[in-house]
Amino acid sequence: MNLYAILITTGAAKAAADAGLRKAQERGDLKKEGIYKMIRGNFHTHTVFCDGKNTAEEMAEQALLLGFTHLGFSGHMDPDITMDLAAYDKKIRSLQDKYRGQVDILRGVELDGLFTPRDENEKALLDDMEYLIGSTHFIESPSGGEYGCVDDTPDRLEKFCREEFGGDYYRLAKAYYELEAEIYERTRCTFVGHFDLVTRFNDQMRVIDENDRRYISPALETMEYLVSKGLPFEINCGAVNRGRKAELYPNRFLLRSLRGMGGEILINSDAHQKELLNGGFDIAVRTAVECGFTHTLFLEHGAEGKVRFRHIPLDDTSAET
Ligand SMILES: [Zn+2]
Ligand SMILES: [Zn+2]
Repeated sequence: MNLYAILITTGAAKAAADAGLRKAQERGDLKKEGIYKMIRGNFHTHTVFCDGKNTAEEMAEQALLLGFTHLGFSGHMDPDITMDLAAYDKKIRSLQDKYRGQVDILRGVELDGLFTPRDENEKALLDDMEYLIGSTHFIESPSGGEYGCVDDTPDRLEKFCREEFGGDYYRLAKAYYELEAEIYERTRCTFVGHFDLVTRFNDQMRVIDENDRRYISPALETMEYLVSKGLPFEINCGAVNRGRKAELYPNRFLLRSLRGMGGEILINSDAHQKELLNGGFDIAVRTAVECGFTHTLFLEHGAEGKVRFRHIPLDDTSAET
């Protein structure tokens, strides 16, 4: 299947999933819709506190509507997008109280490796988060200039690559993975966000052959290192569920490699709007199973309120766990 065909399939799958969801809502019985009973949680969720379109309450209400048992908020703190962290913290805590017994809400942040807290208060709030997604959205400039963003616009990426890497995208990707390798030391993250975000525009720009050793080698080296640190990786549906890319993050080859290394996964929508809170989950589950994964991870509050991982089997029969 070529990439275009996969994109079409993605759109069709989403339309079918949406139609299925509406039908289920009409019947008031989401639990009979296989995919929705299988993955009933998301741990990569944005709101109007950063660049999301919906309020935290609206996202929590959508989680209830979808029959979610768990919802993790993960607003951006990066060199470009930040939140009023104190207000965010307070709001998510209030939602934890409001939805206690209905949805287990987790208070997290998507923390970029190049983010520097503005003051002690912000640092303390970050340190106190229940979980952190470690994400790389920027690359340092080799010439000492401004950071380059890998998911801003193709034009800006092209300009950054031309000026800083002589137009060599393999060098740029290598620099990205070298920084990504430091994500745990830099953020003390709970899991790795969109591992291969450097390919964000590659379906359009086609500047990197994702099978080329110059691309694969640094990616696998970084992956192996992060797996050795015990870090799970998310399957991030954010580009697929917005029709931006044919492949999930990480792509199939990297996912298979992750499985081979004994790595663990979480399935996340990276939702910036409530309609996509479970966007792409069906594709992610299918892809994960095809790549050999037997379970995904949820985050939850365990004994004494401590956040821990929980295994969620990726098959229909055990969907009620
Ligand atoms: Zn991100
Ligand atoms: Zn995100």
